[in-house]
Amino acid sequence: MPTDESVYSYSAVLMGSPILLKLFSDNPALASRVFGLIKQYEDLFTVNRAESQVMDINHAAGVRPVVVSRAVYQLIKCAKAASILPGSAFNLAIGPLVKRWRIGFKGDSVPPEAEITSLLAITQPQDVVLDDAQLSVFLTHKGMEIDLGAIAKGYIADRVRDLLRREGVTEGLINLGGNVQTLGTPQGHWSIGLKKPFSDADVLVGAMEVSHKSVVTSGTYERYFEQDGRRYHHILNPQTGYPLDNELDSVTIISTDSLDGDIWTTLIYGAGIEKGCQMLKGRDDIEAIFVTKAREVVLSSQRQFRFTLLDDSYRLIDRTA
Ligand code: FAD
Ligand code: MG
Repeated sequence: MPTDESVYSYSAVLMGSPILLKLFSDNPALASRVFGLIKQYEDLFTVNRAESQVMDINHAAGVRPVVVSRAVYQLIKCAKAASILPGSAFNLAIGPLVKRWRIGFKGDSVPPEAEITSLLAITQPQDVVLDDAQLSVFLTHKGMEIDLGAIAKGYIADRVRDLLRREGVTEGLINLGGNVQTLGTPQGHWSIGLKKPFSDADVLVGAMEVSHKSVVTSGTYERYFEQDGRRYHHILNPQTGYPLDNELDSVTIISTDSLDGDIWTTLIYGAGIEKGCQMLKGRDDIEAIFVTKAREVVLSSQRQFRFTLLDDSYRLIDRTA
């Protein structure tokens, strides 16, 4: 972050996450509007309470379509599109498995295999039926549940950016706990830290310089539990119903919109480095930083940001062509 003394930081806890807003003038009224906006979206999207528009859809699974607000409809439509890509690791209908594993919540445990198999049957993204004319969503089987945990923070970060822009803010930053969206170029750029997996929050592997960009990180180290010497983290493989298992500790996406960042962290996390870099060819606007269990930091390319390695126990591999 800039060291300039004129930075004003405001914090809150929303969506079970620490929220941080940085502005360059003291404006608590604006900060409170920003937190109010996040809260409004949380109330629409959350599946961690009995009531929300997404929960209305989930409660009506197998019974009837539910008409929702445009924001909820559009985000679900976008999440479904990402979910039905061939071989996609993203699945908006993963809810029943997320609820059963409870990773990151009280009572997490490894479910019996038979239960995972039977829950997989009600996590099919094609069974989320959308009606553009009615703005309605229908889950065709009882027990189905939409979970927007892998995409909603990205959407909300972009709406906060839009609000700040409308209010004439030219330089600012919002961090929704893993989803960072930035405005402007204070002192030439923003410097965003890349966390060292399984370390204290302030220990960094490296830092990237960005301007007008979103930086989203998904990691196995944020939410996990251990059972019988094995670690189970919160990004589930939609094919198996178990946590995705590969060479990665985290994936960071640099993009203009945080929505893209949130979708792509999950897609790319599932694809791994080789396939992930392949998928990003032809997408000049989206770049990835992979942190591997073998202590490598792999950059898919380095066009929209500058990366500095800060931990020399890691090896930097830059694949910029
Ligand atoms: P990402 O890697 O982007 O996504 C992982 C999350 O997406 C998982 O936690 C799961 O929810 C879901 N998911 C898992 N596998 C897949 C998959 N293959 N495809 C698609 N989605 C998948 N946390 C709390 O502790 N308490 C709360 O009250 C709470 N409320 C929230 C309300 C909202 C509106 C949102 C968006 C999040 C809330 N959270 C809460 C956090 C939430 O439970 C997730 O942990 C968080 O969204 C994960 O974000 P991420 O960027 O770290 O993970
Ligand atoms: Mg995500």
